[in-house]
Amino acid sequence: MNYRPHVISWNLTQRCNLLCTHCYISAVPQVGNSEKLTTQECRRVMDEIAQINPSALLILSGGEPLLRPDLFDLAASIPLIKKCTMPFAVSTEPGRRR
Ligand code: SF4
Repeated sequence: MNYRPHVISWNLTQRCNLLCTHCYISAVPQVGNSEKLTTQECRRVMDEIAQINPSALLILSGGEPLLRPDLFDLAASIPLIKKCTMPFAVSTEPGRRR
């Protein structure tokens, strides 16, 4: 494959405090087991992204990513990825409200 992503928006959870009618992932406040990937699996995915493009912009989104208890651990592990200069942002509800 000759494809190199430069911006990755990653929906880490389907949970959200809001119930927007236009929601693109049908997010709801209570979704049992809504985090499909464990913390370790997410770290593996970030490693794989960094191998493809270590300077890609990674947007941690959802749902509401702050509802994931491991969000800050995941964010803190990004600079620890070998040879990774990946900038990241957290896309959270207040910035999305209208
Ligand atoms: S804030 Fe975003 S994720 Fe949450 S319900 Fe609205 S559209 Fe869905």
